[in-house]
Amino acid sequence: MFELIKKLSNAFGVSGYEEEVKEIIKAEVEKYVDEIKTDALGNLICIRNGKDRRKLMIAAHMDEIGFVVKSIDEKGFIRVAPIGGWFSQIALAQRVVIYGKSRIYGVLGCKPPHLMKDEERRKVIEISDMFVDVGATSKEDVLKMGIDVGSPVAIDRQVIELSNGRITGKAFDNRVGVAVMIEALKRTQSDATIFAVATVQEEVGLKGAKTSAYSLEPDAAIAVDSCVAADFPGSETAHMDIKLGKGAVITVIDASGRGLIVSPLVLRWLKETAEKYNIPYQLEVAEGGTTDASAINLTKQGIPAGVISVPARYIHSPVEVVDLKDVESATNLIARALETSKSYILP
Ligand code: ZN
Repeated sequence: MFELIKKLSNAFGVSGYEEEVKEIIKAEVEKYVDEIKTDALGNLICIRNGKDRRKLMIAAHMDEIGFVVKSIDEKGFIRVAPIGGWFSQIALAQRVVIYGKSRIYGVLGCKPPHLMKDEERRKVIEISDMFVDVGATSKEDVLKMGIDVGSPVAIDRQVIELSNGRITGKAFDNRVGVAVMIEALKRTQSDATIFAVATVQEEVGLKGAKTSAYSLEPDAAIAVDSCVAADFPGSETAHMDIKLGKGAVITVIDASGRGLIVSPLVLRWLKETAEKYNIPYQLEVAEGGTTDASAINLTKQGIPAGVISVPARYIHSPVEVVDLKDVESATNLIARALETSKSYILP
């Protein structure tokens, strides 16, 4: 599992430019499904035909937050626009890669403290004031590298292991979820038809979930994502009891109900499955953030949808931290829920 997360997390897939991640997923699931297709928006839809009439969807978004090239100046410095929810201070001084035809490495440069006035040092620097330095000497130089306005820019950061089975890297939101989906698909003995969908453009408006749920019309869906762990210094004020190592997170409500209010039936399905198989879990009521499940839930006449998450620290940063025990819990919970769905979804 760690190796799979490593491969997925180290890959580059800013919203709208997910090809590289898609290829990795394809190669991983090929042997375990009957059909793989891509829809017009770019979602990767993997179908395993079942013996009974139920159709279940697992959705894991494969995009990550990043940037896109906005302009290139005469000296060869590149301005970028953010894609997805950034806290600008996090982006500064990161190593990035501008990818497409080739991979060009660069840095989000910054004025050193030596050149800053006192009040400047206390200020947050906006992304619009940052620039990427790829080592170019002129605009022509940049263009010759294959970089142009619109080229996607991702954070470059390799996964490493910390202590106690905890790991850190970029884009764990949601490559960890993608890994969980792949592994659950491999492990489950479910008789239902399963649509495992790696969705695109979640970070910019749950877009892939909308079109895929519309065309697949599943009887129920589970989104796999990462959620905010509130167990590090400074997070106490959130009054959330989500901790690393305490198990998979089952969402009850997110975005104060503006995102998703999970139906009692789905909640019972996921909780009773966790209890039946002694899988550790935590319940989440969140005031911010939402997932693909919210879009799926509102498709056509309404589709019962739930969320199973892996708690992550420092989410939307290049140093997200997750606990592999939680990854395991989430994987087992999804694999088993696909099987127990028989008693809850179209029983
Ligand atoms: Zn996410």
